[in-house]
This record gives sequence, C-alpha cells and structure tokens, in this order.
Amino acid sequence: MFLLVGERVYSQAQDIGNLECAVCGKSEPFRHITETNYFCLFGIRLLKVNQYANYYRCERCGNSYSSESSDLPSQVESVQEVIAYILLGYGKYEEIDLAKDIALKVSNFEMQVDTLKDLTRQFSASNVDILEQLRRAAFHINLVGKQQIIEAAFLATHACCEIQFEDKTRINLMGNALGLSIEFVNQVVKSVRANDCYGVRRVLPISPIDS
Ligand SMILES: [Zn+2]
Repeated sequence: MFLLVGERVYSQAQDIGNLECAVCGKSEPFRHITETNYFCLFGIRLLKVNQYANYYRCERCGNSYSSESSDLPSQVESVQEVIAYILLGYGKYEEIDLAKDIALKVSNFEMQVDTLKDLTRQFSASNVDILEQLRRAAFHINLVGKQQIIEAAFLATHACCEIQFEDKTRINLMGNALGLSIEFVNQVVKSVRANDCYGVRRVLPISPIDS
C-alpha cells in the first residue's frame, strides 16, 4: 500500500575528516550520522518529529562514538553495565573473571575490576532502571554496538542459567529498549550460539545430583 501520511526516518551521513579511533588505534576517516523522524505527506517531509540517533562513526571499523573526542566506542559502557546487572541478578557478582571475559570478547575492551564493583554497588543500592539507561544510551549507538550489547546480555545470562522464558524476555526487553526487533535479537543469539558462545565459561549452580 502506498503510504500517504505518516512518519519516516531519514538518515544523514556527513564527512567530518579524520579522528582518532580507539578500536583501529589510529586516525581514520569519520562520519557524523544523524537519523531524524519526520512527519510526511505523500513522501514529502513536512515536520521534524524527533531525532532517533546521533553519533560519529569510524568508516574503517564501523564503531560508533558519542562525540568527536570520545575515548571509547559508545556501546562499551552499556556492554559493561548489562554484564554487571545480569551477573548481580543471578547472584554471580563475584565472578570477576567471567565479567571481564565477556566484556573483552564482545567489545574488545577490558572491563576494570573497579568498574564491575562500582556498577554492582550502584545496581544493588538503588532501583536503577537498566532499560531506561539503555534507551538513553541507544541515541549514540549504532547497530554494530547494539549487537554487542545483546551479545553481552545473552552471554552473561547463558553463563548463569539454563535460559527459560523470563530470562529470554529480559534480553528481548533490552533489545526493545535499544530499538531492536525481536527477530534481530534472535538472530544475534543464534549467531553467538553457533560460535560456541565464544568459549565463555559457565557458572551454573550445582544440582543436588551432581554434588
Ligand atoms: Zn575504527
């Protein structure tokens, strides 16, 4: 059906010259990406409704940054938050090596022990809304970064339990907060499983039969 009236997302990519990329480890060409939602009539943009995304992207590795001077790709903080949040939820907040392993394998960036401890303290002390945090962070994160966050959520969950409905629902809700479809989330999970879950060690509870 031809859409006469409605909202559409328009992307803009502007060359901004070379910037230092933390992933590539050197100066690379960057683009400033914006996605804006417009109210349209007969496909003509009438009114800017809101901005969906705004980030700087390295054209070599495809990682997104929240600003021109960011030290880390914009997803790295969210990857670490999701790992800390999920491990805490399963009572595995002392599994420092596991958290570090997942963070490194998913994002290629080290998670410091102090970061994990600080995040664990924050999540246990206050009623932090992780979904709201992801929703806000998503503004500066591209699809490459969002995929890493879902990989981290899945791996942290998979390491702690045999995934049941509510565990998968939590991952889906995180995907939804990032603006991802369930199909995309499922595809990410499938791909991580097909890669032997990147060899991440599991810390499943020992059942009475095993002990
Ligand atoms: Zn790069």
